[in-house]
Amino acid sequence: MGMPANVEIGSHVWVEDPEVAWIDGIVINIEQDEVEVQTRDGKTQVTVSLSRIYPNDVEAPSGGVDDMTRLQYLHEPAVLHNLATRYEINEIYTYSGNILIALNPFQPLSHLYDVYAMERYKGALIEGLSPHVFTIADVAYREMIKEGRSNSILVSGESGAGKTETTKMLMRYLAYLGGHSGAEGRTVEQQVLESNPVLEAFGNAKTAINNNSSRFGKFVEIQFDKKGRISGAAIRTYLLERSRVCQISDPERNYHCFYLLCAAPPEEIEKYKLGNPKSFHYLNQSNCYELVGVSDAQEYVATRRAMDVVGINEKEQDAIFRVVAAILHLGNINFEKDEDIDSALVKDEQSLFHLHMTAELLMCDPLSLEDALCKRVMVTPEEIIKKSLDPHAAAVSRDGLAKTIYSRLFDWLVDKINVSIGQDPSSKCLIGILDIYGFESFKANSFEQFCINFTNEKLQQHFNQHVFKMEQEEYAKEEINWNYVEFVDNQDVLDLIEKKPGGIIALLDEACMFPKSTHETFAQKLYQKFQDHKRFIKPKLTRSDFTIAHYAGEVQYQSDQFLDKNKYYVVAEHQDLLSASKCSFIVGLFPPLSEESAKSSKFSSICSRFKIQLQQLMDILNSTEPHYIRCVKPNNLLKPATFDNINVIQQLRSGGVLEVIRIKCAGYPAHRTFSEFLIRFGILAPEILKGKYEEKVACKWILEKMELKGYLMGKTKLFLRAEQMAELDAKKARL
Ligand code: ATP
Ligand code: MG
Repeated sequence: MGMPANVEIGSHVWVEDPEVAWIDGIVINIEQDEVEVQTRDGKTQVTVSLSRIYPNDVEAPSGGVDDMTRLQYLHEPAVLHNLATRYEINEIYTYSGNILIALNPFQPLSHLYDVYAMERYKGALIEGLSPHVFTIADVAYREMIKEGRSNSILVSGESGAGKTETTKMLMRYLAYLGGHSGAEGRTVEQQVLESNPVLEAFGNAKTAINNNSSRFGKFVEIQFDKKGRISGAAIRTYLLERSRVCQISDPERNYHCFYLLCAAPPEEIEKYKLGNPKSFHYLNQSNCYELVGVSDAQEYVATRRAMDVVGINEKEQDAIFRVVAAILHLGNINFEKDEDIDSALVKDEQSLFHLHMTAELLMCDPLSLEDALCKRVMVTPEEIIKKSLDPHAAAVSRDGLAKTIYSRLFDWLVDKINVSIGQDPSSKCLIGILDIYGFESFKANSFEQFCINFTNEKLQQHFNQHVFKMEQEEYAKEEINWNYVEFVDNQDVLDLIEKKPGGIIALLDEACMFPKSTHETFAQKLYQKFQDHKRFIKPKLTRSDFTIAHYAGEVQYQSDQFLDKNKYYVVAEHQDLLSASKCSFIVGLFPPLSEESAKSSKFSSICSRFKIQLQQLMDILNSTEPHYIRCVKPNNLLKPATFDNINVIQQLRSGGVLEVIRIKCAGYPAHRTFSEFLIRFGILAPEILKGKYEEKVACKWILEKMELKGYLMGKTKLFLRAEQMAELDAKKARL
């Protein structure tokens, strides 16, 4: 995309730099295809190829522009420079057309979000105020009222970028717009807002990168009545991270609720026989127990209060925390080898104590619990025998039980909140808010990353189609007959993943159904099937990894746990144990199975179930008018006022922001109203601006005088190619 024709000695340009991505400088020499650039600091001179430099707009306003489409040149260095300039003065929000880019300030900017701010943004036009999440919510709300159409706001970004905070701000603003002012008692909007702390207590945890990381995806659907007041809501959640319940590593924590409960008032600690979190295996695998600036004791009280508001009664709350305590005790049951045989026994006095506590809290028989943990029932044609597990298998069984109980508890909470807030069946309009994990690419990527990146491919397709449509509509509005000829789509990656039959998910399910398959046979199958697929790569030096070329970059997946992680089942012994509990709450989590479903040992595929959920989500999104917010983490140190170029670029790429720019650049990226154009380039033909003139005619005059060809002229705007813009600037500079 370089603009060779217009570079001359003295031109201001951007050149690539390995450390800061882009650096600005001045051209000091040109020889054929090579350009010598003196960088800004004056210290270095670099020689680069003509095609790798970009023009730098020296007339750009010093505080940046609040919409990227107003940039003179739309390219990566300009976009980055604009964001950095704004971040420096705490302008964390910037539009890129109709996408809002939100940079995490990593410091409280409360004046941005208080009641006065909400009042200011209410009903204000986009043009009037600086970019804000409130504007996005406001536009969605107004459009919904005016058009009678549902809207959705899709918030994305990598972990710690600020999605959940943004989502909460959106919800607070919508509650403000659609609230029942002066209403007594619990209002729907209060319930909607208070669902957040409840879900965060049970679904969020400290990770290495975010102290309050959501370990599930969430779509909140806020329903409105004819008068535009909130009348109901539905929350859908996706793929809670189950493994965290029994496995964490430094410096992470388990789900917040465990620590909250350990910090509960003494009566409760006594009742549940809890105490220091350090004494529990599920918590002490990491050395982190406390969060800076957070009091677990206070959070416990706050969570209980939020539960009151969303309609979870005292008795249910007690049962919920009893289950949480039971999981902690369960994790402390250890096993050892029975002396002569290889079977597991509950290890020592300590373990026995925890076994009894677990049974007491789950209100089930301790002996049955021990059996469910240590033995499996085998049915042979002759007889039914109980086979003992070895100590390792018993520990795996214990962890499986903990994960199953916890995920059922989480699902119960979501269902309960939905029932309690209530759905408004007569509502025709809703605003959906999606807070879902962004694209992930780590050193080691497994099944979870596969599902997450699959989600992001889906959302990316939706995003591209929308942006593309909007672009095309802009041309139509200006009555210009022009079509994007080529438009790169990611349908091929989606086919690779989800096509039925023959896609990766289908092959995975197949592998899960054959007892003899292993991750290696699964991988071999993939290699064989997709050896010619453009998006599939077999990495060298591995026998079971596979790489997918995602829209946001290549990701190498390790297949070794794919089969296990994809199989969903509840061990029959665990199911029987808990459905026989004396506690109706626990029976509610494990309703007795019908005879038929108990017999069928058919495996159920997590991935296929997720695929269906995702398709349902896409169907909802497709029926709404979408708005996009891309959250960006300016640095990995979680520090304010630090802007790391390389990091930001990578996020803009995986958030599809650069892709949009690429789409725009494939057309005519510079859209200028006639008067904007005259302000900048009128000087090229001062004669026409003397006296009375028609703007459109004047623009045409200038373009003809400059011998520019191939631009497009609409009703109110000019559409120019990037290089045409550069050429005009160069001509202007030569004056
Ligand atoms: P994850 O994917 O891990 O859930 P996330 O994108 O939801 O991450 P958040 O939890 O919303 O990230 O934000 C991480 C932290 O960044 C917050 O706890 C808060 O400290 C800070 N933060 C985010 N947005 C803002 C904001 N607008 N103002 C002030 N601080 C913010
Ligand atoms: Mg989050």
